[in-house]
Amino acid sequence: MLYCLDNFPCYPCQLMGYNNMSETRQFHHIQYPRYGAMLRDDSRGVVVCYNCHVKIHTKYGERKFWEMMEVDPNIYAGQIYKHYKENIYEKKKPKRKHTRSSNRKKND
Ligand SMILES: [Zn+2]
Ligand SMILES: [Zn+2]
Repeated sequence: MLYCLDNFPCYPCQLMGYNNMSETRQFHHIQYPRYGAMLRDDSRGVVVCYNCHVKIHTKYGERKFWEMMEVDPNIYAGQIYKHYKENIYEKKKPKRKHTRSSNRKKND
């Protein structure tokens, strides 16, 4: 989801009042509140900076992190995914035939 990385600041930082558009932003796939589902759905992810990403994965764990933020990350994920679809996905229609698109998922 490079589109989201280019267009959205770190979500937790934004909640704390910072507009963090740092180079180290990553796309985090939400696995909360469904544990163990290991969903890798781009419609359920948020942009986070490196620092916040580390907190989510190692320091607090996903559930505690979002509870501390007092938000449901899935709502925001839905918003940016909608934005993405409206700006990228829709514009790509009509698709040319015989074009190969590689969707590399770099981010966790
Ligand atoms: Zn952050
Ligand atoms: Zn992550």
